[in-house]
Amino acid sequence: MSVLESRVPSLRVRSANGAPVVARGRYVLYWMIAARRTRHSFGLERAAEWARHLGRPLVVIEALRAGYPHASDRLHAFVLDGMAENAARLEAAGAVAYPYVEPDPGQGRGLLGALARDAAVVVTDDYPTFFLPRMVEAAARAVAVRIEVVDSNGLLPLRAAPKAFPLARSFRSFLQRELPRHLGDAPLPDPLRDLPRPGAALLATDVIARWPPTALAALADPAAIVRGLPIDHAVGRVATRGGPAAASLAIGRFLRDRLARYVDLRNHPDETATSGLSPYLHFGHASAHEVFARLAAHEGWSPLRFGRVAAGAREGFWGMSAGAEAFLEQLVTWRELGLNHAAHAGDDQRYESLPPWARRTLDAHAGDRRPILYDRTQLEAAATHDPVWNAAQTELVREGRMHNYLRMLWGKKIVEWSPSPREALATMTELNDRLALDGRDPSSSSGILWCLGRYDRAWGPERPIFGTIRYMSSESATRKLRLRAYLARHGAR
Ligand SMILES: Cc1cc2nc3c(=O)[nH]c(=O)nc-3n(C[C@H](O)[C@H](O)[C@H](O)COP(=O)(O)OP(=O)(O)OC[C@H]3O[C@@H](n4cnc5c(N)ncnc54)[C@H](O)[C@@H]3O)c2cc1C
Repeated sequence: MSVLESRVPSLRVRSANGAPVVARGRYVLYWMIAARRTRHSFGLERAAEWARHLGRPLVVIEALRAGYPHASDRLHAFVLDGMAENAARLEAAGAVAYPYVEPDPGQGRGLLGALARDAAVVVTDDYPTFFLPRMVEAAARAVAVRIEVVDSNGLLPLRAAPKAFPLARSFRSFLQRELPRHLGDAPLPDPLRDLPRPGAALLATDVIARWPPTALAALADPAAIVRGLPIDHAVGRVATRGGPAAASLAIGRFLRDRLARYVDLRNHPDETATSGLSPYLHFGHASAHEVFARLAAHEGWSPLRFGRVAAGAREGFWGMSAGAEAFLEQLVTWRELGLNHAAHAGDDQRYESLPPWARRTLDAHAGDRRPILYDRTQLEAAATHDPVWNAAQTELVREGRMHNYLRMLWGKKIVEWSPSPREALATMTELNDRLALDGRDPSSSSGILWCLGRYDRAWGPERPIFGTIRYMSSESATRKLRLRAYLARHGAR
């Protein structure tokens, strides 16, 4: 068999099992688990390359399990919005879409293995968090054909970094040296051209009978699907629609209406100046490469504009407008710092993963009296004495998101009102990951553990409960931020 000529950078591709490509396989199987989109995806591009190279049709399975932690109407509906769209686009491009919604936990077990039996090669996404790495490892043990795992996560390939960076500054400095050589390697906007056409009866009938794919017509009504599933119905659907088309609209809206205001107004909840892209990035409906390419086009940017800055400087590196630089600081430095940690330190969300200085100071204050304590039920119900916190929590419960600045305050107050930092960590993780559309992400761990000192430094004066961990107060937030409309919208009625 000749060697595959691939435009997907080799640093982004690894074999999960060392098994061979089976030339007599009937199709190439792409197992879409994280980059849930049909555009700007290295994984799908690699699978399409294999399909063309081997002259085999491309089958794409996008599955939605019933039993993953925090499965709810909210998360399911968001994913289903994307599944409907992906399946339609795949079929239109000549691939075979296999959308599968698991009716009960465990029922989908065996499906991947059964589809892989007739595959020449399986390609899937490299995502360093949640249950996905374990799921891919298990498949790699069970499947006899080559499984390739492809990293479409960020602008920097996960394996381009040698280690987990402890601070944003050192990571930024590394990015400034390393990233320019990777920026030219972007995934194709449309990787699905010229696919070999599938013949009739491509998929084994026993597989289809045992694990029936969800019909396109049924996918069009996510509300009806989620109603019948054994998932958490208490966490309801929200107004934000999922899917690549909604993600694309959100990118356009951000560039058109918000980017120019981002640098000055992003911390003010009343101003709606941030992108709202995190749920789309989390579920892979949006690609960081697409966001970057559209931002660069909007800015008329080319790599000739890279600035000369001191190593690790926060502004001036890109040579873009102040708003674009500030946005890339979040989209690239902070988002990919979390990915870097997850990839190189195993997404360690334990209290013990905090830097030693943070643990020392929190432990030294573990016995401090906590004048105000709330249990998880009170917190979840937004039933504290603090109207700003309650409004932020209410936004999370009702809308599945929380304004970024208030998210930091939200976490800091949970630290202050919990019996111990460990309990605060558990409460933040539970509420964030269950209620937020963008939860269960490397950025979830970054944000939550940041509230306890990860990626931060010691701040004086030393205080009760916090020690030298950075402290935040609702009073100061109320003084500094434009919040009135936000409180009217989400506050007590
Ligand atoms: C306690 C706490 C919990 C958090 N939980 C999550 C979470 O579950 N999922 C999540 O994606 N982010 C989380 N964050 C980070 C941040 O709050 C969100 O990424 C951001 O608010 C998303 O809004 P946006 O898309 O409008 O951001 P924008 O300001 O428009 O930023 C663009 C993108 O950059 C990334 N980004 C922005 N801020 C951060 C940050 N501080 N750390 C890492 N990436 C960032 C996101 O992907 C975001 O979509 C958390 C922060 C804290 C303090």
